[in-house]
Amino acid sequence: MAARTAARTVGVPRATLGRVTIPEHLRSPEPVDPARPQAPEDGHGTPGGPGARIAALADDLRDELVTIRRDIHAHPEVSRAEVRTTALLSDRLRAAGLEPRPLPGTGLVCDLGPQSAGGRIALRADIDALPLQDRCDLPFASTTPGVAHACGHDVHATAVLGAGLVLATLDAVGELHRPVRLIFQPAEEVQPGGALDVIAAGGLDGVSEIYALHCDPKVDVGQVGTRIGPITSASDEVSVTVSSSGGHTSRPHLTGDVVYALGQVITQVPAVLGRRLDPRSGVNLTWGAVHAGSAHNAIPSTGTVRGTLRCLDVRAWEFAGQVLHDAVEQVVAPYEVEVTVHHTRGVPPVENDEAGTAALEQAAREMLGPQSVLLTEQSLGGEDFAWYLTKVPGAMARLGTRTPGGRSYDIHQGDLRVDERAIDAGVRLLARVATR
Ligand SMILES: [Zn+2]
Ligand SMILES: [Zn+2]
Repeated sequence: MAARTAARTVGVPRATLGRVTIPEHLRSPEPVDPARPQAPEDGHGTPGGPGARIAALADDLRDELVTIRRDIHAHPEVSRAEVRTTALLSDRLRAAGLEPRPLPGTGLVCDLGPQSAGGRIALRADIDALPLQDRCDLPFASTTPGVAHACGHDVHATAVLGAGLVLATLDAVGELHRPVRLIFQPAEEVQPGGALDVIAAGGLDGVSEIYALHCDPKVDVGQVGTRIGPITSASDEVSVTVSSSGGHTSRPHLTGDVVYALGQVITQVPAVLGRRLDPRSGVNLTWGAVHAGSAHNAIPSTGTVRGTLRCLDVRAWEFAGQVLHDAVEQVVAPYEVEVTVHHTRGVPPVENDEAGTAALEQAAREMLGPQSVLLTEQSLGGEDFAWYLTKVPGAMARLGTRTPGGRSYDIHQGDLRVDERAIDAGVRLLARVATR
């Protein structure tokens, strides 16, 4: 598929956008299928208010943003290799008279609005793709074999870019009354994620609230899913290794029986976590692999069990590591074995602030329509946007990308398709949040 797409681009006229060249065939929007159901009716903001201005500016950018999204989609880059994507975004911001600043490695931040005013608001997009094959079978499918924008980060990046361009126009005519920072973060899909690098580079300096969107292919375009409190989960890797001198199974009293001790770890440690941590925190330790021994009559000298520790609640997650270590040590203590616990923390849950969630909901109802807000569920997936929310309040909303009545897709699948009207919805929503 990649070779076919590449062949199609040879020799076609190319238009330029800053330093990055966009093939002509990516520049025109996909023709709308007349049989395709239309999105729910848009809201357009209160007449004469900032919402109406944002809607008009977003209309002007719509086709260009679709082109940019397709360009990013056709040229996906994996975590910490988002060089072209960074250049493309940077060039477009510069063309609007803004001054983006590169982050160490890849990614960028861009400040706009009156810098002397307080209450800086950050809008964050992630920009990396996944190491899997694009199977979307569209003219702008990935041209890089084995790499695809299968988590919708091309849409996130384009929506934040579009919101930034709208806000820059408002700023130019004195209608933006607070400072705004656009954050285009690399490496969301790996651990440790790029959010920690952005924070370490000062990306949150002076920021008092932060917002982000994530594509949700189970929600119709034109709608957003919100939830106060956690909307994703923590997922940590756990491995426990038990060792002793080993011996004959007829004489377990002369050695540490690692198989028996490991069995105690497997059954008792999850039970201890379930009693020491609030059950409402959804803490769950589930083993996925266990290895020990090779003969029916020999006690091995070592054995390991590995699993994941998931948790729905930030405070329980912070406490769970210590409980895990204590529980393992105490459970194996009677059996005179050595034990090593490796607990690799992933990301905390994304925990939406009540005021931030309300801000997203209010903006959505005004810009996307009164019926545009849905209650979303808490997923067991992880998102490194969570790290920002441990520093400043804010919220993430799920941005609907399903064509109403159309097929459902899932993220992290090579055939993911999004209804590109989601970009426009994201632009309106984020720009309105930043102008409230
Ligand atoms: Zn993802
Ligand atoms: Zn993602």
